[in-house]
Amino acid sequence: MKHLDVAVLGGGPAGSATALLLARRGADVGLYAAPGHERPRLGESLPPAVNPVLHELGVAAGFAALGALPSYGTSGAWGTGEVSSQSFLFSPHGTGWHVDRTRFDEMLTTAAARAGATVFPSRVRRVHRIVGGFAVDAAIPAHADAVVDATGRAARISRELGARPARHDRLVCAARIVPRRGDEPFCDTFVEAVADGWWYSAPLPDGHRIVACFTDAPIAARAGLATPAGWLAALAATTHVRQFVRGRAGSPVRVVTAAGHRLRPGAAGPGWLAVGDAAFATDPLSSGGVTSALRMATAAADALTAGDRAHYVALVDGMAADYFARYSEIYGWERRFPGSEFWRARLPGVTNSTTSPEPRRPPAASRRSCSSGTGPRSRPES
Ligand SMILES: Cc1cc2nc3c(=O)[nH]c(=O)nc-3n(C[C@H](O)[C@H](O)[C@H](O)COP(=O)(O)OP(=O)(O)OC[C@H]3O[C@@H](n4cnc5c(N)ncnc54)[C@H](O)[C@@H]3O)c2cc1C
Repeated sequence: MKHLDVAVLGGGPAGSATALLLARRGADVGLYAAPGHERPRLGESLPPAVNPVLHELGVAAGFAALGALPSYGTSGAWGTGEVSSQSFLFSPHGTGWHVDRTRFDEMLTTAAARAGATVFPSRVRRVHRIVGGFAVDAAIPAHADAVVDATGRAARISRELGARPARHDRLVCAARIVPRRGDEPFCDTFVEAVADGWWYSAPLPDGHRIVACFTDAPIAARAGLATPAGWLAALAATTHVRQFVRGRAGSPVRVVTAAGHRLRPGAAGPGWLAVGDAAFATDPLSSGGVTSALRMATAAADALTAGDRAHYVALVDGMAADYFARYSEIYGWERRFPGSEFWRARLPGVTNSTTSPEPRRPPAASRRSCSSGTGPRSRPES
């Protein structure tokens, strides 16, 4: 049986970055990175704020080799039918990016291995406490002094260790991939609010474009969003986003959960902590999930090294408080659909969550036009 200082469970951005940082500090780290089957992986747009974080992690060269598509800003119709844009031109961090998420995640896992982490390409079945640590039940089992739950929105390991994800919405995403073409009205990120939620579209580095509808699960079920017919009927309610699809066959519709949560009573317990989406998952409208996961990884590595878990829990709680304030503000900008179930659930003070005490409020959108790339509003950077 392999004995580890730390077993990191989940090979997304949060898990790989945590393993990388701990290995650099000399810890004996095992990273359980089961290969995912999602192709392409959703979550491909990165704001400029990711650039300093990639530098701090020492993976900027690996990132450059991915050939990501630069993103110069975001455009959208949010709070009004008119399109406005926000350019990244004046961002101190440079451009944002559209990445191949599968390759991006693999780049981080490779960096962790180079730093000295042992990568186990294996799913974790269970984790349970043993005297002095934890037993990791997987195809390649191990004992570890400490474990890190980096299993994403599933928060699989934290649940086993007694924590509970307090869900704060029922958001789902119904996405299709379509070929890009030269005459698109907007070539960068685009967001459009509609009565039942919001649509998002962004270019992918391989010549395609993602077009996705975000709404709450009951609305998606009633609208049959998982079927091409239901998805196209919903798309017809958009003014701008439908232009990205016009006349083009798309991939099958893929529906995934995008529900937000935070971990209760906190993001850490004796001998374990959660990082990234497992600890605190946000609405993808922010495009900040990956950047936030990488930042949390630094804090998690510090907490594991210094043993100060209370500080880590407070830091994640602080991130959540900032997020909820911003979320309320941005969803509050959209007031055109007062009778809508989706928007009503996001009014300040309303909670349709299972447990969250935070008020729910509104977010904002951003994008960039091919021609100008300037304007007043955008998808928040982080
Ligand atoms: C529809 C959608 C669109 C998004 N768009 C964006 C975007 O444009 N930009 C952005 O920054 N963020 C976006 N996000 C959020 C972003 O994807 C996440 O915040 C980010 O991936 C979190 O990283 P993570 O490592 O915590 O979790 P994940 O990336 O989810 O990684 C978790 C990993 O753990 C693995 N795992 C799970 N269970 C086990 C197990 N039992 N054993 C071993 N491994 C396991 C999974 O296979 C996965 O590889 C989006 C999210 C959604 C749902």
